[in-house]
Amino acid sequence: MENLKVIRGGLLIDGNGSPPVKNGALLIAGSQIAWVGPQQDLKIPDGASPEVFDYPNGTLLPGLVDAHTHMNFPGDGSLIEDLEEETDELLLLRSVMNAKKHLESGVTTARENGARNKTGLSLKEGIERGFVPGPKLVSCGRPITIRGGHCWTMGGEADGTEGMRQAVRQLVKEQVDFIKVMTTGGGTKTSFPFLPAYSVEELSALVDEAHKFGKLVGAHATATQGIINALDAGADMIIHCSFNDSDGTYRYDPKVAERIAETGTWVNLTIYVGLARIHSLESQSRESGLDETEVALLDQLKRVHEASMKGSNQLIQAGAKIAPGSDAGWRSYPLGHFQKELVALCDLDISTMQAIVSGTKESAKSIGVGNSVGTLESGKQADVLVTAGNPLETLDALSSVEAVFKDGVHVK
Ligand SMILES: [Zn+2]
Ligand SMILES: [Zn+2]
Repeated sequence: MENLKVIRGGLLIDGNGSPPVKNGALLIAGSQIAWVGPQQDLKIPDGASPEVFDYPNGTLLPGLVDAHTHMNFPGDGSLIEDLEEETDELLLLRSVMNAKKHLESGVTTARENGARNKTGLSLKEGIERGFVPGPKLVSCGRPITIRGGHCWTMGGEADGTEGMRQAVRQLVKEQVDFIKVMTTGGGTKTSFPFLPAYSVEELSALVDEAHKFGKLVGAHATATQGIINALDAGADMIIHCSFNDSDGTYRYDPKVAERIAETGTWVNLTIYVGLARIHSLESQSRESGLDETEVALLDQLKRVHEASMKGSNQLIQAGAKIAPGSDAGWRSYPLGHFQKELVALCDLDISTMQAIVSGTKESAKSIGVGNSVGTLESGKQADVLVTAGNPLETLDALSSVEAVFKDGVHVK
């Protein structure tokens, strides 16, 4: 056997939710995991002299899988409108920087939820061809949105059932991995976050066309009617899943939650992207103070956060499947901190072990790559995160990154 590596750690968490292995080891052959178990049981093939990586105080985990990123964006408080003047070339360069940051933070697979024009797919190809470092990307290219709808500046406007089919076919031609659709408006100024964007007929045409080509559909929804429309159309994942009425009031809907659970539709909550905005206003308040409008905004954001955390707990209790994804790049959430979303999940009725399984195995399944990544098992790709401490004690330890391996290559 050629190109063998052994990685040893004080603790090994395989991502399946099984108890951690003390003094665990991985044998890696090429890009894949050949063996996982306790160090004393490791057998090196005769005549082989693998490269050995030792982390006696470290924890070995599957590389993290972030189901929601926007590599185009800085996550420094900028609105999508602030970035309109930036060229595609500049967006791509920032994406290159962000992809490296995200990989080195321990995310070995990420689902790109929308980039402008061809920048997302170019980034993906550049990483695959080895031009630049980055996580393995599952990309939608451009999100599909109504005229003037959320993220329309990314270039994915489409209207009407025929328009939806054409838009999907165009993206399939460009070799996207999944289809992202905005079923409501969002943070884009010309859009309406609390109103449905598409009719069920339009969404059904999109889902039908996407599924015909074997592509999963992720549906952004910040209003209850958008969630319902996405469910009616058969979308595979509800993104944000904010139970907002058309007047913006958050009102958890148990019937809709039941449908989400029954249909096995994934939910990507994106908790921290909201918290990041709260934190940035709070630090502004400490440093330079807030004006009246900002004080009111901070107050409103906190109330929304509290209500949606309560609703999200009910959603989880109803049996919804959670797919963690950061939404990093958006607004005040920079790339390289997916762990903050996992830590925020623990504010819900979720244990540290469940949060780890969610951010590895479950998120991998939710984006259609569960067969190749998300757990430390023989036959899977050798994507490994090594943290300095034990994340089961405090999930913050997930951010103390000692090493990252992607497809068996030591990248950090
Ligand atoms: Zn969104
Ligand atoms: Zn997003």
